[in-house]
Amino acid sequence: MGKKFDKQIKGLWIDPLVFTQKFVKACDICHCSGECCYYGVYTDKKEHDKILGIKDRIIASMDDSQTKNVEKWFEAPEKDDDFESGIAYGTEVHNGKCVFLDKQGFCTIQKVAVDSQEFKWKYKPLYCILFPLVIYNGALTVDDDHLARMHYCSKVGNQVSTVFDACKNELIYLLGEDGFQELDEYRKIFLKRNKKVEA
Ligand code: SF4
Ligand code: SF4
Repeated sequence: MGKKFDKQIKGLWIDPLVFTQKFVKACDICHCSGECCYYGVYTDKKEHDKILGIKDRIIASMDDSQTKNVEKWFEAPEKDDDFESGIAYGTEVHNGKCVFLDKQGFCTIQKVAVDSQEFKWKYKPLYCILFPLVIYNGALTVDDDHLARMHYCSKVGNQVSTVFDACKNELIYLLGEDGFQELDEYRKIFLKRNKKVEA
């Protein structure tokens, strides 16, 4: 993409909206039922293959609101340069939610990892981990279109934090500790500069 933002970390342009977008203090599916998962998600080809590699464990963990027919889990592949392998697969929607969302609002892909004492995000697609953050046209930004559809975390009265503060673990996962520190430094500079402009 052309240079639209001022700062790049580990190859990603940084949209300062990440620092200013208001958000809930933390995700809580008791309040939202995991509604960000109602529409499915795009996964990288490698993530898609990894998920199919544990299909039997996923099937064993699914409930009766989910389809155990593996053929119905993913859409056809598409070219997309925002994905590491350049190919993305969308997850299908079944019963009004991502095929991997159970009726309690839990992601079965994460659940099988947790149940086996593995790292909770071992099999989970990056874009699921990141939301409401997203990588779009080479920039780390906020998926404000999708966020606006939410009934809990998009409500001004519930937005007592920022995406940056609520998603620190996700940012560290994406950028590493060093990349996160660099992001935090840039955040401080950006907010100070903005304060001066506003004054
Ligand atoms: S992003 Fe919003 S809808 Fe999704 S889990 Fe967090 S609070 Fe719930
Ligand atoms: S794969 Fe899991 S986290 Fe991602 S949209 Fe589906 S249910 Fe939600």
